[in-house]
Amino acid sequence: MTADLHLHSHFSDGTFSPEEIAERAAAQGLGALALTDHDSVEGCARMEAACLKLGIQFVPGAELTAEHGRQEVHVLAYWLDLSSQALVSRLAGFQAVRTNRIRDMVHKLNRHGIAITADAVFAIANCRSPGRPHVARALVAAGACKDYDDAFEKFLKKGRPGFAPKARMPAAEAIELIHHAGGLAVLAHPGLYHADHVIAEIASDGLDGLECWHTRHTAEGSEAYRRLADSLGLAATGGSDCHGMAKGQPLLGRVHLPEAEFRGLERRRHAQPAPAAPSN
Ligand code: AMP
Ligand code: ZN
Ligand code: FE
Ligand code: FE
Repeated sequence: MTADLHLHSHFSDGTFSPEEIAERAAAQGLGALALTDHDSVEGCARMEAACLKLGIQFVPGAELTAEHGRQEVHVLAYWLDLSSQALVSRLAGFQAVRTNRIRDMVHKLNRHGIAITADAVFAIANCRSPGRPHVARALVAAGACKDYDDAFEKFLKKGRPGFAPKARMPAAEAIELIHHAGGLAVLAHPGLYHADHVIAEIASDGLDGLECWHTRHTAEGSEAYRRLADSLGLAATGGSDCHGMAKGQPLLGRVHLPEAEFRGLERRRHAQPAPAAPSN
């Protein structure tokens, strides 16, 4: 049995439905999956039902946008209690900020002479967690760019006319929020930050794991992160970060986390102190 613990559905910026992810994963022989949409757990109930039918173990999760100092980092959450009021209200806050950010980006693009509307972006996003990939698709649909990458290159990358920064919480706060909701906190794709010194610092804030295997890590990089995870007492995890067809061929199946590593993460869940009593 192998696992893929980093997957995005159309409840954030992926293109597959939760059911489609589960079916494609079953066809590839994956035995455990985590749904990790950006700032959203909206797709988890459907994915859980789909996995149950296919005999796949499901892990409800999310990917939170955070920062450590000035470095943006992503924190994956696993085994979240979806009924946690603190979690639901914090996610709603982040989704509201994302929605306002889309309006801000569209406004900037309009001032730059690009005729698109926020409603067109929201119609494409069709979820509570809209982001730049949805603006990119709207720009392509409006004929302002030739393709998705062109949209980022011309308008949406940092420093380009349509860019607006995203709200980020300190990594320590993301970890605390995840623990409060009964989950485990894992630092996503460290290879993308080019700032390895932050790993040990964030680990000391109570991190549970490090995403050692990721489609954008090299084999040597993954091995080095696995050793680092070991030395910091962190679980070594992995996932494809599949966004469906959003970025060409689906990445699902490119990372197969070995069962031993998956069970190691799972054991930490049971070793965790019970989540805090519900608060309102
Ligand atoms: P957001 O969370 O709204 O800032 O959007 C971030 C997402 O946009 C990431 O998950 C990437 O998939 C995508 N993205 C960011 N930068 C680029 C880029 N230069 N080219 C293509 N996609 C990008
Ligand atoms: Zn994404
Ligand atoms: Fe990420
Ligand atoms: Fe991701």
